[in-house]
Amino acid sequence: MQFWKPGTIGPGSLLDRASEAEDAVLSSAPMSTTLSLQAQKQRLPIFKHRDKLLRAIETHGVLIVVGQTGCGKTTQLPQFLYESGWAAEGSVIACTQPRRVAATSVATRVAVEVGSILGDEVGYTIRFEDLSDKHRTRIRYMTDGILFREALIDPLLSRYSVIMIDEAHERSVYTDLLLGVIKKIRQKRPALRLIVSSATIDAAAFLEYFSSGSPPGDVMVASLEGRMYPVEVAYLREPTPDYVQTAAEVVNNIHTHNGPGDILVFLTGREEIERCLQYLSEVVSQFPQNLPTFSPLPLYSGLGTAEQLQVFAPMQPGVRKVIISTNIAETSVTIDGIKYVVDSGFVKLRTYNPTTLLSSLSIVKTSAASAAQRAGRAGRTSSGVCHRLYPSFVLESLPVATSPELTRTDLTTPILRLKSLGIDDLMKFEWVTSPPAESVLRAIEGLVASGMLDAEGRLTDMGEKVAECPVDVNIARMLFTSKGFRCGDEILSIAAMTTVQDVFVIPDGAPGALAELERRKFTAEEGDHITLLNAYNGFIKYGKSSSWCRSHALSFRAMSRAVSVRSQLKKYMHRFSLPIESCDGDARRLRQCLVTGYWQNSAKWCEDGTYVSVQGKISLSVHPNSVLFTRKPKSGWVIYHEMEETKKKQIRVLTEIEPEWLLEHGYKLRDNHTST
Ligand code: ADP
Ligand code: MG
Repeated sequence: MQFWKPGTIGPGSLLDRASEAEDAVLSSAPMSTTLSLQAQKQRLPIFKHRDKLLRAIETHGVLIVVGQTGCGKTTQLPQFLYESGWAAEGSVIACTQPRRVAATSVATRVAVEVGSILGDEVGYTIRFEDLSDKHRTRIRYMTDGILFREALIDPLLSRYSVIMIDEAHERSVYTDLLLGVIKKIRQKRPALRLIVSSATIDAAAFLEYFSSGSPPGDVMVASLEGRMYPVEVAYLREPTPDYVQTAAEVVNNIHTHNGPGDILVFLTGREEIERCLQYLSEVVSQFPQNLPTFSPLPLYSGLGTAEQLQVFAPMQPGVRKVIISTNIAETSVTIDGIKYVVDSGFVKLRTYNPTTLLSSLSIVKTSAASAAQRAGRAGRTSSGVCHRLYPSFVLESLPVATSPELTRTDLTTPILRLKSLGIDDLMKFEWVTSPPAESVLRAIEGLVASGMLDAEGRLTDMGEKVAECPVDVNIARMLFTSKGFRCGDEILSIAAMTTVQDVFVIPDGAPGALAELERRKFTAEEGDHITLLNAYNGFIKYGKSSSWCRSHALSFRAMSRAVSVRSQLKKYMHRFSLPIESCDGDARRLRQCLVTGYWQNSAKWCEDGTYVSVQGKISLSVHPNSVLFTRKPKSGWVIYHEMEETKKKQIRVLTEIEPEWLLEHGYKLRDNHTST
């Protein structure tokens, strides 16, 4: 094994970087010709290392690339490989991303750089959206989850000559699983090259992981680390009760008191981002005509492609760009020209408690590593400033790094898929980091209870099919059980609607109350799942029209996506010979079917209007968007789609059920199996 010492091939002296800064100023002007795009590309630090990297990949099976964000790893490395023949004879170069937005935005950019139509030589595949061509695509960006599922169908991933697992430091579930699976594949197919790349990787851990059991010298680390410009960090004197509002105030302050340079704000999700945009739009609307203004833009995973790409577009002269983003912009997407960073200090993460069996999306403090990474976004091309929206003493209480997702997530779906890959003995699988034994055990119990594994832990017929479905086990199970309840038609629509986010929106300029009134037109007293179904049916009935969506406060994009998701899920139903019958308005049958999927997410109403979870006995409140927000369900019992934890634990997308259904379609099964 060899090391490239940090700094030895890095961008070198500050002087070097200074000349790049000038370049960056030049290149921020709109470019139209191919030549200038080429020039722009070739200024990226990674170009200096092109030949060394290509030589390394010729002679080594596994290359671990560590480099500063924005140096060109994601956009350039696959192109270098392509140009030097790695995609000859029908083979494909894959580059995985933990985030959908990163896969789509990077592919869009690289297609432009290569001069390809997106989906031709350069394409992307994310769940329910495939813009790649089976025969023509040579560089394929995809989410890690997609590549993992592809291994279920093609266990040697034989189409690929090189697989680049990008953003490995994120340690998402499927990134970790893929690393394990590819390590195994490489024993059978040593010609396959693996690149593990990231901004702030713990290279030593990966080096050790891949070195064990590999031929000597097969693994190499290439460090492209370079110097950053200094970033001054400012803290709040007192903690803020509302970091979204504070973020908006800080942005306004920077704008009025500081020189030019774009601003990047880190919040945790769409709702916060929209609230911040709202504040900022009000501020902008009050600017006097003759003063320089700024333009706030959102960046999060539910956005359409066009909106996503807006963050890269140059502004009109004199207008400052303000990007309000989730942690997508922390490492996976680099926007040039950022001089100021405003960091809320929070991030939304998936968490799971194997004792209570409750899984949720939680807003938690970022790690110290994330805080440093976020600050670094202000110092890429010149010195910058980072405003952290917390007092400096908080820094000491931050975890050093975010733990791998495998150690803090519900493993039901990933473990079913591992089983389906033929990895029966989970203890023998080479985990990069082992998940907690309790989470593995709970997942197996749940899979046995829902009939995916038999009592010996072997995959059942249904388990094998469900593993292939591109949705979580609970949703897939409903598709299968819908046969018995004769409601496949409705369950398909509901399943599709739950995979799209942000269905109900407030149209531009419309008062919130009016949108609320529109929403009520779809309301089903049984709860949100059937409300979603009503919205879906309305959309189809009125010809999938965008004006109809606008006048009913629905997102046309989300609804169209639901239609596409539904038709893809329908193919799985056909493949598995599941009938697509309608329950003809029998909501009782439909709700029973929902229980077969959601039985682990059940809760009982309490006198004070909150709920208590059946598993774990945790107190839950209802999300204000739910149609059951202010209403007690007659039976007093509900199932829910997901839980989100901010200051309190809120459940979303609820449906009223009868408690005995839980016994019949969930718990009884569990008791039967776990007692054997
Ligand atoms: P890394 O993966 O090393 O963090 P990237 O390859 O993502 O770096 O980015 C390299 C450069 O490409 C950055 O300067 C980034 O701003 C630019 N870039 C990426 N996507 C786009 C896009 N859609 N439009 C314009 N520039 C882009
Ligand atoms: Mg990258």
